[in-house]
Amino acid sequence: MVPGVLQKSFAAAMGARSSVGEVSVPEMVELILRQAAQQRVSDIHMTPEETILRMQWRIDGVLQTAAGFDRDFGSRLVARLKVIAGLLTYRTDVPQEGRVAAEFSESEVRVSTFPTLYGEKAAVRLFGGNFERQTLEQLGLPAESERCLAEQLEATSGVLLVTGPSSSGKTTTAYALIREILRRSAGARCVMTIEDPIESAIAGASQSQVRPVAGFDLATGLKSMMRQDPDVILVGEIRDPATAEATFQAALTGHLVIATFHAGSAVEALTRLLEMGLEPYLVRSALSMVVSQRLLRRSCECRQSRDGISPTKLVSADKSACAEDLSFGCSRCGGTGYLGRIALAECLDPGFPQVARALLSRSDSQTLSAAAAQSGMAGLKVLAERAIQAGETTPEELLRVFGGRLSFSNSRT
Ligand SMILES: [Zn+2]
Repeated sequence: MVPGVLQKSFAAAMGARSSVGEVSVPEMVELILRQAAQQRVSDIHMTPEETILRMQWRIDGVLQTAAGFDRDFGSRLVARLKVIAGLLTYRTDVPQEGRVAAEFSESEVRVSTFPTLYGEKAAVRLFGGNFERQTLEQLGLPAESERCLAEQLEATSGVLLVTGPSSSGKTTTAYALIREILRRSAGARCVMTIEDPIESAIAGASQSQVRPVAGFDLATGLKSMMRQDPDVILVGEIRDPATAEATFQAALTGHLVIATFHAGSAVEALTRLLEMGLEPYLVRSALSMVVSQRLLRRSCECRQSRDGISPTKLVSADKSACAEDLSFGCSRCGGTGYLGRIALAECLDPGFPQVARALLSRSDSQTLSAAAAQSGMAGLKVLAERAIQAGETTPEELLRVFGGRLSFSNSRT
């Protein structure tokens, strides 16, 4: 096997059978899925190269090599994944996607294959792996963001929009909010979800997954759901104007709607809603809060004790700062210096007078941003600076997540 960051834990799981040859293909696939779930892996990449099949795991948003298999064994692993996901094993020349059957995995696992130069590449996505981030407190949000969100949960109408780019933890946050509502209301509020797909089960909520081929999509599903007498609705996620319209209409008729939405910032979410054709007055009257979030890897204790709290190093535009430093001799974080993630979330109140005025007059994003600042919103940049100064994450991690889009001045005094 090819050495990788996770080789040790993976080898340990293989037990006494030190060579891959002693493990059957189905056993190895089972072992990989089980180990991946335990290691908080969100995606597994099985990539055929010239001489090996490289297995990489995405943990806390970052890909790490877990192991390498010889090509023949590797292609049989991919074939086995196709079997349990109900894909056509004899077709290796076209992309395919499917869902791992329930008998092979308790949570939702999706397999996608893609033909490449050296054979089929398989990508496995494991949903519902955020077991450590189930509740509002466990999200690791800054205190004021958590307070902002918690206040919204008592509302009986309005849209609470959870935004961010892909893999920014939108669904995890939305699920945690739903769980908090269920916990507080102790069954007194009817909670329904409409999702594409359901990422994990929430005890106490009625969850539905759309089936577009049957004409059951987010927009039509939402309209039918109104007749089910729900109090709280989760929409995952708004991708088209019809769903956006149905979501905002539902919020106007006495439902608290929590919806996820792809946008780079809270202000961008507002402008995108208008671009989708929603009328400013509809957004203004139905939207109660926009949250925009990012996930950054949390510094492991080993890094904190090496670097100390409040590192003085500031972000430079130098990409080489992103190079992974694996010099930490720590078994908990696999030598990466990171363990778990923290969430940053800016909360924009669209009801604040300047923001509302800018929204109703379809102002540009610059004017909206200025209004958001006037409302006292602690933006992502400010929150990120605080997290670095508290030693919770690193300037390198900030650069990885935000790219060069946030330029930091030397604001430390
Ligand atoms: Zn560590």
